[in-house]
Amino acid sequence: MHPHAAPATTAPGGLDDGRTAVAAVDLVKVYGSGDTAVRALDGVTVGFARAHFTAIMGPSGSGKSTLMHCLAGLDTATSGRALLGGTDLTAQSDKVLTKVRRERIGFVFQSFNLLPQLTAEQNIVLPLELAGRRPERGLLAHLTESLGLTGRLGHRPGELSGGQQQRVAVARALISRPEVVFADEPTGNLDSRSGAEVLSFLRNSVRELGQTVVMVTHDPGAAAYADRVVLLADGRVAGSLDNPDHGSIAAALQELGSRR
Ligand code: ADP
Repeated sequence: MHPHAAPATTAPGGLDDGRTAVAAVDLVKVYGSGDTAVRALDGVTVGFARAHFTAIMGPSGSGKSTLMHCLAGLDTATSGRALLGGTDLTAQSDKVLTKVRRERIGFVFQSFNLLPQLTAEQNIVLPLELAGRRPERGLLAHLTESLGLTGRLGHRPGELSGGQQQRVAVARALISRPEVVFADEPTGNLDSRSGAEVLSFLRNSVRELGQTVVMVTHDPGAAAYADRVVLLADGRVAGSLDNPDHGSIAAALQELGSRR
């Protein structure tokens, strides 16, 4: 591995090259107006490769959550494009965005977001059922086994540890074979061992299932599981690292901090 800081590509290489799952093109997000306006994204252009694991990092307030929310159809940008496959999410109605989120995107949140009254298995398959699809039994069995959830499928979230709950949430995100899984600080509420299990699994899902994963994290140890780190600062792309490790990420973040 030869980690090195390099400027992020200014163009995502188009989405028809088959290699880019999701991309931002000159994305701008302004909250509020007039004197109190905050430019959370200030012209972000970046592509996220298919079947790769990418981490988005940067100081607090740099725009990580805003970028993820715009790319996931959870928030609308002020200008620019948020592209998922051939779809520009910035041009869609709320109704279409709801459908896109349900059918084409998987989510893993810091706080698990499982429904307490449903069993683990019911939680895993709920989004698919809402979309009118049946779970692939083979994939469910594979996810259950590789996530260490065998024997736990009949349990409710309250009967599971935090790590187990997050692994249920990961299975829920992957069962629909979404075009991209967005993970927002997925290890933020976990001890280091449970966090490592979740991150290893996400990395394996990229290798074994060809899953595309985009993760926001402030933890260099978590980001080191990714194939690539995209760095944000002040609402702009400030660089990227290929094949990052803990040391190269920490150094890049420190350099970002000292530039500010
Ligand atoms: P990060 O995830 O990197 O911490 P955010 O995307 O949450 O950064 O925030 C980027 C900037 O946008 C910050 O200055 C933040 O205060 C501002 N911001 C985020 N959400 C809102 C909002 N709903 N209303 C106003 N300002 C916001």
